[in-house]
Amino acid sequence: MPSNNPIEDRRAEAQCLMTTGMLFGTFDGHGGAACAEVVSRRLFTYIAASLLPLEMLRDLEQELNKGEDVKLLQWFNLSDNEEDSLSPELRKLYRQSFTKFVLQLIHRRSTKAEFQMRDNLAEVFEYLDRDLWAEVEQAEAVSKMGTPDLLHQTLAVAMSGAVACVAHIDDVHLHLALTGDCSAVIGMKSESNAWVAKELLKVHSYDNEDEVARVVREHPKNESETVLQQERLLGQLAPLRAFGDFRYKWPLSMQKRLLLPLFGHQVLPPNYYTPPYLTARPEVIHHRLLPRDKFLVIASDGLWEQLPPSRVVQLVGEYMHGRQTLEPFRVPATGRHQRSFTLGDISKILARRKEGIHHKPIDSNAATHLLRSTLGGTEYGIDHAVLSQMLSVPEDVVRLVRDDITITIVFFDTNYLRHCPV
Ligand code: MG
Repeated sequence: MPSNNPIEDRRAEAQCLMTTGMLFGTFDGHGGAACAEVVSRRLFTYIAASLLPLEMLRDLEQELNKGEDVKLLQWFNLSDNEEDSLSPELRKLYRQSFTKFVLQLIHRRSTKAEFQMRDNLAEVFEYLDRDLWAEVEQAEAVSKMGTPDLLHQTLAVAMSGAVACVAHIDDVHLHLALTGDCSAVIGMKSESNAWVAKELLKVHSYDNEDEVARVVREHPKNESETVLQQERLLGQLAPLRAFGDFRYKWPLSMQKRLLLPLFGHQVLPPNYYTPPYLTARPEVIHHRLLPRDKFLVIASDGLWEQLPPSRVVQLVGEYMHGRQTLEPFRVPATGRHQRSFTLGDISKILARRKEGIHHKPIDSNAATHLLRSTLGGTEYGIDHAVLSQMLSVPEDVVRLVRDDITITIVFFDTNYLRHCPV
């Protein structure tokens, strides 16, 4: 659901073709969609390659060197044509980076025996981010020979940023990798049969104390007052981890050489002394799926700022059962100058709730149902007047009411999980 025009959120879903897992991701761009677009198209390919055994990596490298296309993923959200929509020179640059990455994997795999999925995912995120950086420098070199287009394209990626939440699910093993303030939650049935939101990761924003402490710790004491201001990194950036955003990562010399001539002095963040201030390194967790785990919701902050995780899980849970129940009734708060609620008012609300409870979800898609409830949910179920009002907020003010919203819901097969040996 867009709010920005054009939307800055991206999503991706794919099946790994050479290994058994599936990948799901939400990417939330800022300062434009360029970085989110590129990361959402490239990150899964990097991850899929990183999971290959050494022999297959060697084959992959050979085929890449022969100029052949190697299909590591079956995308669910892209057609093959869409994958090819990049400009030829950019595609060539990305291919060179990817080939180097595969070589690096071969080197690693042959020198380091132990494979740890958590470390691996973290390293892949960082590696792709470093490639985005290196590609600007490569494009810079080419631009001196008279092709400035490539530099502009790589800079558009480097000057914007993207946060990402990615799930890799292979049999009963769920890995979640998070950089920034997208988030994911598992919908779980408790022993008393109530819906419970299992939050596995904390977002990287000012609300996360550990994250604030990390950022302060990574810079000298005399910067502790300036590194975070107004709840933002250097007073500017809300997420405390992200892909791209190299004006918070590059050394001063690179900023001066590349960015100042193009964008002027305002491009440099204030109090920029000891970069990097920002990292793409994700936090990664492993969770073994249990029969009580029913679904996973991955979404951009646009959803989470409208609804708490507990409500999200309840709504999807109810959707699963094809019915709608309501939150416990509370008398709505009244302002100082409004009259208080009478028993008659309450009786009317309860009557509407009773009526609403018989309305089954009308959406065939769970994410659509969640979105409809997010935008049009009221005390007595979904109110279509509220919903249509939310959907018709004028373009110039819509960003004040809501952010881009991206929701992916993955349902787990309880029967399968029940029969899996622990
Ligand atoms: Mg957002």
